[in-house]
Parts: sequence; structure tokens; C-alpha cells
Amino acid sequence: MRTPLVAGNWKMNGSATLAEAFGHAFTEATLPEGLEVVICPPFPYLEAAQRAFDGTPLHLGAQTLNPLHSGAHTGEVSGRMLGEFGVRYALVGHSERRQLYRENDEQVFDRLLAALSVGLTPALCVGETLSERDAGHTMEVVLRQTGFVMSRLEPEQRQRIVIAYEPVWAIGTGRTATPKQAQEVMAAIREHQARHDHELASGLRLLYGGSMNADNAAELLAQPDIDGGLVGGASLKVDDFLAICQSA
Ligand code: PEP
Repeated sequence: MRTPLVAGNWKMNGSATLAEAFGHAFTEATLPEGLEVVICPPFPYLEAAQRAFDGTPLHLGAQTLNPLHSGAHTGEVSGRMLGEFGVRYALVGHSERRQLYRENDEQVFDRLLAALSVGLTPALCVGETLSERDAGHTMEVVLRQTGFVMSRLEPEQRQRIVIAYEPVWAIGTGRTATPKQAQEVMAAIREHQARHDHELASGLRLLYGGSMNADNAAELLAQPDIDGGLVGGASLKVDDFLAICQSA
């Protein structure tokens, strides 16, 4: 059985006050049994969020991390530092990092390795652009991005990662992949892994991300290969995010 997971990515949004509001709401909330819930706030709010989430089912995640533990890297944050704030998860390879900050597969892999080395669970984000989908290259792109990372990991490391399928054309656009489109790609990711390691593939947690909201979450999360969601915009509203969690 795969543990369902819903993660909120605040991106460069939110506040310490929003973290407190989440803390209050989730103290009272009833969630589906066994659901893991993660919030990835901007770094400056980690301390406030750690305090606010104490005693709630909310865990902390980071939106990125530097591949190194320390050093002369102005403006960067290491996985070791994140661990000091109780961070458990780290996104790597988010399409905004790939596009705006030119992170390539190799750099994504280095960050993922750094996360694993300090005991964080990396959530590897993969997904095709609209032109790649229109050109019929979706599977090729997604399997290349996942394969690049998976083929370089030890079997024990592969079991410790989560993969988030996030079609780039669906992120922040209000245009969600249909449950059928998402399921098709996510089944392909699982099947591809199953060719190498059946047990690993059946335990691999796969999240869908891309304009998930309170209205479309239930149908997406009901798909057999979708084990949870990575939520951007809707994770900035307590009620919407809670509703998504409750439909998992
Ligand atoms: C994301 O940033 O990972 C994301 C899925 O964003 P949104 O839900 O806003 O599309």
C-alpha cells in the first residue's frame, strides 16, 4: 500500500501569518486516515511554520536546496540547514526551477542526491511543455526526466523518492490535465519502472500537479496511479487546501 501525500507549494508567496492560519485549521481538521500532508513555504517562513505546525498533522517541505552542505554560495540554502527546521521533504526539478533558473537534469539529480544524503525525501518533478505535448513527445520527455535520475540511484535510494508529474502547461494556468491524461502518463512512469524493478514500481509514490483545486482533486486523486497531489495556487488558501486533502 502506498501512503497518500498532498503537498502544498507556496512558491514565493505566503507569510508567517498564513502559516499560523494553516496551523490552526489543521489542528481541528479531520483528514483521511494515513494521509501525509506537507507544506513547502519560502525559506524565511520555515521557523514560523515549524512553530505553527507543531502538534498538527502538517509536515514541512522545501522548494529547493543546494547540492552542497555548506560553503561560499551566496544566497543558497543546504539540505542540512533545512533539516534543522524539521523539514522532511524537498522539491527538486520543479518546472519553474528548470525554466527560470536553467536547472538541467544533472543539476536536478545533484540536488536530489543532496536531499537523500541528509535524510530528506525528494519529490522529483517532471513534466512536458505544451509544445512537447502537441508534438507527441510527452512520454519521451517524462520518461527521460525520470530515467535520468532513477538510473543513477542505488535501489535503496530509489525507494526513498516521490515523483510528481506536473505538465508544465497545467501549472498556474487553471488548465488541469484531465484525469485520463494524468493517469495515462503516471501509469507509464510506473510501468517503465516496473520493467526494472516490479516491487519498487508498485511502492513508488506518484503525485499529480497542475492547477489541482478543491473541485477537480477528488476525480484526479481517484485514479489508480495517482497517489496524491502537488498543489501550487490552491495551497495558499486554507479552506481550498484542506478540501483537497479531505478528498484524497
Ligand atoms: C506547482 O507549482 O507545483 C503547481 C502545481 O502549481 P499550480 O497548482 O498553481 O498549478
